[in-house]
Amino acid sequence: MDAQKLLALDNAHVWHPYSAIGAELAIFPVVSASGVRLKLADGRELIDGMSSWWSAIHGYNHPLMNVALQAQIEKMSHVMFGGLTHAPAVELATQLVELTPAPLQTVFFSDSGSVAVEVAMKMAIQYWHAKGAPTKQRFLTIRSGYHGDTFGAMSVCDPVTGMHSLFSDVLVQQYFVDAPSCRFGERCSDDDIAPLKQQLEQHRANIAAVILEPIVQGAGGMRFYSADYLRRVRALCDEFGVLLICDEIATGFGRTGKMVACEHADISPDIMCVGKALTGGYLTLAATLTTEAVSATISNGEPGCFMHGPTFMANPLACAAALASIELLTESGWPANIARIEAGLKAGLAPCRELATVADVRVLGAIGVVELHEPVDMKRAQPLFVENGVWVRPFGRLIYLMPPYVTSDEDLELLTAAVSRVVSKIE
Ligand SMILES: *Cc1c(COP(=O)(O)O)cnc(C)c1O
Repeated sequence: MDAQKLLALDNAHVWHPYSAIGAELAIFPVVSASGVRLKLADGRELIDGMSSWWSAIHGYNHPLMNVALQAQIEKMSHVMFGGLTHAPAVELATQLVELTPAPLQTVFFSDSGSVAVEVAMKMAIQYWHAKGAPTKQRFLTIRSGYHGDTFGAMSVCDPVTGMHSLFSDVLVQQYFVDAPSCRFGERCSDDDIAPLKQQLEQHRANIAAVILEPIVQGAGGMRFYSADYLRRVRALCDEFGVLLICDEIATGFGRTGKMVACEHADISPDIMCVGKALTGGYLTLAATLTTEAVSATISNGEPGCFMHGPTFMANPLACAAALASIELLTESGWPANIARIEAGLKAGLAPCRELATVADVRVLGAIGVVELHEPVDMKRAQPLFVENGVWVRPFGRLIYLMPPYVTSDEDLELLTAAVSRVVSKIE
């Protein structure tokens, strides 16, 4: 099929994320990807600045990932997980428990980040039900958050960007406080934490858990907030008897400079969600981890089991990809590598600060953000990035980079230079 026909059929039949059919926005057919480069149908090669939404941390078409997947295909691609188990799932669960802070002990596999969040929310509700506190069914969260697109996850996304008014009759009303204004690296004052404390004091009888993205709020605004704030949230959850759910779906696997972002605050949640980079961007897989205290309470309580079980739970291919990805990561000397990318992003994005349209430039780990005063004109910006040889996908007022960890210094310079050029052109 030639590219023009493909685009016409795409336009007629295929929904893309947050898209309108027939919108005629620029869209680019990609035919292959290797290392940090995406190859378009017209032969152009783009340096990937997005890791396909946080996931392709080792780049594309990695030989060791490919070998691991081929070996698993020869054995079995899938088998149901009810009443059966297999080495890839057991090994992966064991590794996830090792990589994440104690006392996270048990792992529930699911197919996507949103479902991992649903599972986390159900675990919290079932925990309190088993404890004899059935009124604790709501959640407290901070604005500017993003936790996925299913109904439960959506109910704890930012109410404005998540369009809660549109879904008002079906979305559960949760409790919200403003996102912390204390930035990463700063202390958190009593004033900063007061709204959260007040909500807990007032609604503790109805709150099952606080759910948040630790340190980095991703798709809801790319904000980096104080580790001290997160430490105080943990302490308040303990004080007021609510669980803490950390959604590490974007931040997990080294992206912020720690294996999981809650390590910046030296805390451990009661429930943690991981996804995205879990399989190195090869296949869809997510996991919800919890403590023995939570898993034992659910398991010994009414109705005697945890009420969830996806058809493709612990898909062996996805588990094999995750095992290979984790091995690549842990053997790569990743902390030094993330520090290298952080330095490259800081140096490369610094010139953007001088531009009148730029409100803020911030970098944490392998995440670089250029925040503009006005929303990016995507019709203009997206083709400009492609003309500049890079794949960068802004949203709202944010242009951001989260490149694969295998990006060379040279490619990083090309990426950041392209961002500077495009930002200066779209004034
Ligand atoms: C992407 C994301 C999700 C949703 O994951 P999907 O795999 O898209 O369902 C949830 N939480 C966070 C923090 C995310 O970044």
